[in-house]
Amino acid sequence: MTPCIFCKIGAGEMPVDAVVETDRALAFADMNPQAPVHLIVIPKAHYADVADAAQEEILLGHLLAVATRAAQEKGLSPGGYRIVANTGPDAGQSVPHLHLHVLGGRVMNWPPG
Ligand code: AMP
Ligand code: ZN
Repeated sequence: MTPCIFCKIGAGEMPVDAVVETDRALAFADMNPQAPVHLIVIPKAHYADVADAAQEEILLGHLLAVATRAAQEKGLSPGGYRIVANTGPDAGQSVPHLHLHVLGGRVMNWPPG
């Protein structure tokens, strides 16, 4: 079985540009940024997507808290930022380990593509 890349990152087995780390979560720079600031927030435990973690209300809240802290660390608070969780193929999810995107540093369009 192919090892899950975000499980490896969460376990510290792959180098990333970490922004915030807690016992349960990690925020790091996306390797293919779609905005001047583009961070990924993962739980260290494996869930396929948000739906797979729907029962884990405390963990989901923690991920949002870490995303907000990471955005503040990167100076995004005054202008604002976007938090996205692509879920499943129609949303374009490419890594099957639950993650939030934090995007900022430019004006975002709405609706998204
Ligand atoms: P998604 O398409 O919502 O599944 O988003 C996956 C994101 O993870 C993409 O924006 C990728 O650029 C990013 N990504 C994948 N592998 C890595 C990695 N090793 N380090 C940093 N970002 C990654
Ligand atoms: Zn995983």
